[in-house]
Amino acid sequence: MSLVVAKFGGTSVATPERVLSVAKRLVQRKRSGDKVVAVVSAMGKTTDDLIALANQVNTNPPAREMDTLLSTGELVSMAMVAMAIHSQGEEAISLSGRQVGLVTNDVHGKAKIREIHAERIKEALEEDKIVIVAGFQGIDANGDVTTLGRGGSDTTAVAIAAGIHADVCEIYTDVDGVYSADPRVAPKAQKIDVISYEEMLEMAAAGAGVLHKRCVEFARKYGVTIHCRSSFNDEPGTLVKEYESHMEKALVTGVAHDSSEAKFTIRDVPDTEGIAATVFGALADANISVDMIIQNISEDGHADISFTSPKADINRTREVMEAIVEKTGAAEFVVAEDIAKVSIVGAGMKAAPGVAAKMFRTLADAGINLSLITTSDIRTSVVIPGDKGPEAVRALHTAFGLDGDDVFEETQLSAEELAAKMAKGR
Ligand code: ADP
Ligand code: ASP
Ligand code: MG
Repeated sequence: MSLVVAKFGGTSVATPERVLSVAKRLVQRKRSGDKVVAVVSAMGKTTDDLIALANQVNTNPPAREMDTLLSTGELVSMAMVAMAIHSQGEEAISLSGRQVGLVTNDVHGKAKIREIHAERIKEALEEDKIVIVAGFQGIDANGDVTTLGRGGSDTTAVAIAAGIHADVCEIYTDVDGVYSADPRVAPKAQKIDVISYEEMLEMAAAGAGVLHKRCVEFARKYGVTIHCRSSFNDEPGTLVKEYESHMEKALVTGVAHDSSEAKFTIRDVPDTEGIAATVFGALADANISVDMIIQNISEDGHADISFTSPKADINRTREVMEAIVEKTGAAEFVVAEDIAKVSIVGAGMKAAPGVAAKMFRTLADAGINLSLITTSDIRTSVVIPGDKGPEAVRALHTAFGLDGDDVFEETQLSAEELAAKMAKGR
């Protein structure tokens, strides 16, 4: 007998038929002797629809109310899955973030999990029920509903798996696992059988939305093995686990891209001590996360500072920047929304010089201009014009020898589902 947490993403529960097939999978699993907790996302593009609904009454809705609204999507699907399980003759109980005791901080829209009181789940499992938990949501210390950020149901699943000491956390999605690039962008991308937490974390941070970044952080911290696999077939997917010496350290394991960030540049800010601390301190106080940072020193005692941050926070970032320009006497700030971040990730990069140079040469040969560059031990990222993202991913995938013979063919998603997925910012 195993204790399994299985998470199903929006596409996997998009229609009543798919809800029934998720229920069937869970029932079979239970009948094979396992104890099963399922975590579910909102059905299809419900979360996008709820955001659009809110925007019809307020283009800058209060974050607390937004969380209350968005959390309803997952409540619908958890009840649907529980009902579908009952229709197949097994007992199931659905539990919201509140009912499951998932406590977060109070940062609405991107709350971090503080603790889980898993007693209710354990009791229900003891009573031989299949437990269905609403993903993406929790409550803060005041009892207000919070959400964990787009794609956050993955994190709910891993946190619960850690909380109940599950044997594995299975993340069921609409592709066969983690690929060497988004297969919808690079059709020659290949499924990766096993990937270390370290590399997966960098892939997720670089925009590989197949797994939420914080879910990988959680998994690493608590030693939870993730099995990312398809909800449309029974093929084994990708195992995400601690690096073991027999695992290959490829120079480049994957290429990721991210179009969800905007680039801000503050021009002619006085180049004095504490300026960077003032700028980034103000952003941190507003809970705006910053990814890439670059400072150019100019000759007359002024500097330009550029950074990237999520487009989802663009209104608040503009407000913070307006105040910063005023406070520091900078000339102005400009925003570029039409950018893409493209990254290569590989544990073998640490020990191999020349990987970044090859990346820049490949992009130059493709006529793609770079505006920001950052590197870490195992990742190099560049910012390029937004419309060049897919082309850059494919060129790098080929240049680093990642192209396989199998070509990814989309068979399971409707055109509407695909469009919603590609538009989804993180
Ligand atoms: P779910 O709703 O199941 O959580 P997501 O849309 O969040 O699904 O994640 C799955 C999608 O992630 C895939 O359909 C794919 O387009 C995208 N994706 C991006 N990068 C990768 C990658 N490296 N490997 C696999 N899928 C990826
Ligand atoms: N429903 C949420 C979203 O669309 C959470 C998730 O699917 O993981 O972002
Ligand atoms: Mg997801």
